[in-house]
Amino acid sequence: MLRAIRFLVILGLLIAAALWLTDSPGSISAEWRGYRIETSAALLIAGVALIAVAAAVAYRGWLFLRRTPGSIASAWRERRRRRGYEALTRGMVAVAAGDPQEAQKHSKRAEVLLNEPPLTMLLSAQAAQLGGDEKAAEEFFKAMADRPETEFLGLRGLLSQALNRQDKDRALELARRAYRLRPASEWVATTLFDLQAQSGLWLDASVTNEELGRRRLVDRKTADRRKGVLAFEQARKDHADGDPAAEFKHLRQAHDMAPDLVPAAVRLAHLMTADGKGRRAAGILEKAWISGPHPEIAREYLNAKGVTDALGGVKAMEKLAKSNPEHAESHLALAQAALEAELWGEARTHLEAVLDAPDGGGYAGRALRLMAAVEDGEGANPGMARDWLMRAATAGPDKAWVCTTCGNAVATWAVTCSNCGTFDVYAWRTPPHAEPLAPQGLAWSGLPGDDDGAAGAVSGTARLPAPKDTGGPPETGG
Ligand SMILES: [Zn+2]
Repeated sequence: MLRAIRFLVILGLLIAAALWLTDSPGSISAEWRGYRIETSAALLIAGVALIAVAAAVAYRGWLFLRRTPGSIASAWRERRRRRGYEALTRGMVAVAAGDPQEAQKHSKRAEVLLNEPPLTMLLSAQAAQLGGDEKAAEEFFKAMADRPETEFLGLRGLLSQALNRQDKDRALELARRAYRLRPASEWVATTLFDLQAQSGLWLDASVTNEELGRRRLVDRKTADRRKGVLAFEQARKDHADGDPAAEFKHLRQAHDMAPDLVPAAVRLAHLMTADGKGRRAAGILEKAWISGPHPEIAREYLNAKGVTDALGGVKAMEKLAKSNPEHAESHLALAQAALEAELWGEARTHLEAVLDAPDGGGYAGRALRLMAAVEDGEGANPGMARDWLMRAATAGPDKAWVCTTCGNAVATWAVTCSNCGTFDVYAWRTPPHAEPLAPQGLAWSGLPGDDDGAAGAVSGTARLPAPKDTGGPPETGG
């Protein structure tokens, strides 16, 4: 509406101007360098107006011509980019869906359409990996590792590959490089720590552990426990190197940081006893018995107490069990000591206490074998020993050091799982599969001063018919 009014107004003005020009004729003459122009005023004004309009139209045309190729090119580029991103997205979806052919098809398309290697290289590597072509994936990861903006991603890919093919040296080298690049990355720091621990680089692992704790990538409790475990491994190395002072220092540190670590407490107590500090050693073991009773603690306790006879053994076990009287391990230690002192009634009472617990709680097998030994020792009822052993054969598995990651069960604690290689995962618990352990005697039975060695080793396998017909798997090594 407004436009129409404006148009009408302009048209009116133009008509008025034309009428005015025809009504007021006049002439204009100009002379310039010998040329002479003579015309009416109306014609001159019309001529000037025509030239102005033509110039405006020409300028517009030139602008249009100049801009068009650029806008065509940019529209083409935009379309290409859009198709490239589409291919990239579809490729990523195919990777997530586990479709190698689709992933490879789209990754190649994205590579052609998008000139952005950081984006497409990762997809290409993943697509190659999905298709089982580790070699091609490695080439992509290597190319990524060479570019500053994708170095970390490339290293991560190479590191995963090295871990998958269990190439620990290469993995360690890559983890170090990735850690220098991104020390705050939890994945990298944890992987570096695990690799250092698996390679026995206790000092390096300690440094990484400190850093993990400082950056709060692991909680304080875990960091302290790891510190203790690493100190214990350092102590073992000191022992192998023949450096008793360093071994003792590291054992102290291990016990302070990881008081629950049974082998550290036992070894520390052993060295203290050897150094004439049996009382302090016994104190350490009594404390360890509260947090986690274990047969090795009981054995070392007899040593710390200087026990040389069966009655001394009973007294020592009574003292140790006092700190954790309800625990099945306390009853078993007392039963074992009573058995070796030929106190049949007392041994039975403690074993019955263990067997009263529902399913024996991982202690039934040992209790039943001890019961058979009691029966055998007393000799009053020969058939009973066999009955107890038959029951023991079908009882659940005995407690062992069980890997909390893969379920691997071993008799001797180690810093890394012998099956899956994970650091500090062994817990004293019932294994997931049956694995009857042979009954073990207490340590003092073979000590010097024991006047009747054979009688002392009552619970040893020598005096018991071995349950050969159990059909269970063989005992794990170490
Ligand atoms: Zn494991």
